[in-house]
Amino acid sequence: MPKDKWMTKEVTTPYGVSLWRSIRNLWDEVKNNSKVKVFYGRKTMIWKDNWHEKGNLEELFPDVYNLVTFQQGFIADLWTLQGWNFNFRRHLNDWEVQRVADFLNTVEPFNGLQTGKDVLWWTGNNRGVYEVSRAYKLMDQKNQQIKNWPWKQIWKSRIPYKVSCFVRLLAKEATLTQDNVMKRGITLCSRCFLCGETLETVNHLFLHCKYTQQLWRIFLSHRGISWTMPGKVSEALKSWEEAGVLAKDKGRWRLIPASIWWAIWKERNSRCFESIENSVQKVKLNCILLLCFWCNQLYSNDIVSIIDVLDSI
Ligand SMILES: [Zn+2]
Repeated sequence: MPKDKWMTKEVTTPYGVSLWRSIRNLWDEVKNNSKVKVFYGRKTMIWKDNWHEKGNLEELFPDVYNLVTFQQGFIADLWTLQGWNFNFRRHLNDWEVQRVADFLNTVEPFNGLQTGKDVLWWTGNNRGVYEVSRAYKLMDQKNQQIKNWPWKQIWKSRIPYKVSCFVRLLAKEATLTQDNVMKRGITLCSRCFLCGETLETVNHLFLHCKYTQQLWRIFLSHRGISWTMPGKVSEALKSWEEAGVLAKDKGRWRLIPASIWWAIWKERNSRCFESIENSVQKVKLNCILLLCFWCNQLYSNDIVSIIDVLDSI
């Protein structure tokens, strides 16, 4: 864990008071629900701390973060009477200029420094003061979002274990798409490998990419369902389950997102690592075949054809 001015060091020795150790272990949870209120700016790291209303700047602009020279800088070091003073490691390429401009527009409305120490403000309540009962509720709500998805059925069905793990990672938005790779400090020219039109993020690649949308449409138009694609994978899982109330076979219905995501992930990796591009028709077929294969494993004594599977969902 990087050095964090807002908290004492993590307890790594076997000694020490266990209550403090437990509180210390929950620090990430506290920090995720906190904002820094900037006064004199000497305690707030511009890239690392959560002070901007839009969120953590390193996570919002990982590409710009990789270009600046003073990544560990405090606000007081970078703010001058003339405004922000960022330096870059090298000349910007044409395609980077727009991103840097977006970044500068985001930090532009800063009100300037004031007297007084920067303070950590907990956003769980209106008073900014940490409260155990409220924090517990927030943590519970977060877990609940994914808890609603019928993991048990997914684990029980005989889809490959690695696919179940993959879906779970997706729901936590932790797969190694380019947005997550860049959060680890590796610079990439982050374009979606399927449409080439926008940044590759988990939610774009698996939900909103126009290429991926064509796979969702196979099943939606087959069932004549109009479905609004949610913003996040975890919400999509929940909403898909609700849409499946009318499905003839719920067990098969709930395998569909995994079959779409696995087919998309395979295609994305084939383009990324092997430079092999398949047509969308081929990927659609892969997705349907995968679903049929899993359906056949789901009811091992009942061999079904593609037509049977599509008719039964
Ligand atoms: Zn795309």
